[in-house]
Amino acid sequence: MTRPSRVVIDKQALKHNLQRVRELAPHSKIMAIIKADAYGHGLVRVANTLSDADAFGVACLEEAEQLRSASITAPIVLLEGPHKAVDLTSIVQLQLEIIIHNEFQLEILEQATLDKALQVWVKIDTGMHRLGFPLEKAAEVLKRVESCKNIKPSFRLMTHLATANENDNPLTKQQLDNFKQVCFGLDVEKTIANSAAVINFPEMHDEWIRPGLMLYGVSPMTDRHAQELRLKPVMTLESELITIQRLKKGEPVGYGATWRCPEDMPVGVVAAGYGDGFPRHAKSGTPVLVNDVRCALIGRASMDMLTIDLRNQPQAKIGDRVVLWGESLPVEEIAHYADTIPYELLCGVHKRLEFIERG
Ligand SMILES: *Cc1c(COP(=O)(O)O)cnc(C)c1O
Repeated sequence: MTRPSRVVIDKQALKHNLQRVRELAPHSKIMAIIKADAYGHGLVRVANTLSDADAFGVACLEEAEQLRSASITAPIVLLEGPHKAVDLTSIVQLQLEIIIHNEFQLEILEQATLDKALQVWVKIDTGMHRLGFPLEKAAEVLKRVESCKNIKPSFRLMTHLATANENDNPLTKQQLDNFKQVCFGLDVEKTIANSAAVINFPEMHDEWIRPGLMLYGVSPMTDRHAQELRLKPVMTLESELITIQRLKKGEPVGYGATWRCPEDMPVGVVAAGYGDGFPRHAKSGTPVLVNDVRCALIGRASMDMLTIDLRNQPQAKIGDRVVLWGESLPVEEIAHYADTIPYELLCGVHKRLEFIERG
């Protein structure tokens, strides 16, 4: 590929982060969350690299199929469960585990004729109000689960937290209390924790944890950096300078002429833009590394190009390396400048880019 933009995936860092999760939650089994093409890092690549995980969590049947076709034999959990009764056939064929979270899914399981009983995770809505059986229905639902012939007796319980990335939101405690009530007296395996809860709430580690973002070396909290948590960024989005402009004081840069040079200065043009998944809303001043030195984005991001203030790198020349996020430049920081979250930036990296594996 002649276009110099590429995504570098550091497999060593990925393995390191899984190890780090084990250190933080030594008594829990790990369901590595690899939905959305492993947060943009490549589904099969990540599953192969994280072969030490105890299970994988995916969003949909297509992702599970992709993993099985690549000979991944580890347990795979379908996070949203079946959407239609026919899905159960593929679920049995692919030997998937499923989360069930509503009445419809329980009914199709009760009515189906399956060759084998399924490993089911029953999701309780303890306060996030997205997926899950309501608290007041939990007892009745669990009775039906226990007597359903298509569900293995070793069913598991789960819930998902709305505010685990905040240190003291009372909703988190409320959700935990609600979940404890539902689990009381039941001898089943349970799971609550996403990455933020793995880091913030050891009391929520349970038999299973479900880290996603932290595996990719990114912090789910705005006030705690990945580096301080000893996580290593896995994805680096990089490109090169394709031209250098020597502009005069007052000259505008880019679409809308939104930025003007405060003095005579060099401006670099990078061969990457929102067509690659760089956020168009990134503000002027968003950090960019040119030859490992911090420079700033100026003007609006274009589809295939970005313009950079090169006053910190006046000697920079065509072909010099530019890092948009990743190693030495946390994607969390770019997300902040673009009014979004790192999850969205990672998932949005365009598949047209060349992906290179390292480590
Ligand atoms: C995405 C997801 C996770 C992982 O969340 P992170 O914040 O990325 O750790 C865990 N559990 C469920 C049900 C999810 O959908």
